[in-house]
Amino acid sequence: MRPETLYCPACRAPLAESAAQYACAPCDRAYPIIDGIPRFFSGPLKATEDMAFQAEQMFNDTLRAKAYNLGKRIVSSDYQPRNHLAEFIAAIPPGATVAELGSGNRRLTPDIVNIDLFPFPNVDIVSDVAATPLGAGSIDYLVIDAVLEHVPEPHKVVAEIFRLLKPGGEAYCLAPFVYPYHGYPHNYFNFSPDALEFLFRDFSSCAVRIARGPTSALTNLLSEYVAVALSGGSATRYTFWKGAALAPIFFLKYLDKFWSGTGPGMRIANALCARVIK
Ligand SMILES: [Zn+2]
Repeated sequence: MRPETLYCPACRAPLAESAAQYACAPCDRAYPIIDGIPRFFSGPLKATEDMAFQAEQMFNDTLRAKAYNLGKRIVSSDYQPRNHLAEFIAAIPPGATVAELGSGNRRLTPDIVNIDLFPFPNVDIVSDVAATPLGAGSIDYLVIDAVLEHVPEPHKVVAEIFRLLKPGGEAYCLAPFVYPYHGYPHNYFNFSPDALEFLFRDFSSCAVRIARGPTSALTNLLSEYVAVALSGGSATRYTFWKGAALAPIFFLKYLDKFWSGTGPGMRIANALCARVIK
């Protein structure tokens, strides 16, 4: 869904909407609407091999992407003993305003405002997540899932989340910790519990938990080692070897049932999640 009023990400003035664009009178900028989606980001962006493969997975329109996406549903190191995101979404009261930054191709709730740097299916607004065209204090609940590691200045994205949320508004943030490099388009940082608590220090509360645990990290790194060693830089060979190496070990991830919450597993967890309240 797209909010009724959008604001200029550069000067914050309300924008005038026409069929072809959003125009900002004070700073004389225009943001085109292409295929029904307003574009507040137009690059430049250095294209990478990882990014091309990510786009392929998101559009799911090639045999390789279909094989990868199907395989990932079955043979995967991803396992969350507790579905923190589903719990976050289930607790949202009817009528609340919800946004996802870096939504990719999914739509978590029917009325959610989906923002992404790329015009994937289901994206409502193409924008840099550090400077969105949404109004200050306009969002009740916000999701940012595996996105912070891809931005060069994550503190600016956290400041944007703070700006967007109403007082008392809540956000769910998942970020990788012990996790392989994945450049969609780039992978600048991974986040320790300390890093998440520091980034969200201005919020009234920040609770960091294990999202995916240590065994998920181990099986992912081991299979990644094999896939990277044998891929020779080819995404097809990488997909094959990642699956082949994971197949005999991926079920070990269920051991992460014993590593949930906030215990010592935080030190080597695959991914952490923070529930924050403004
Ligand atoms: Zn402007």
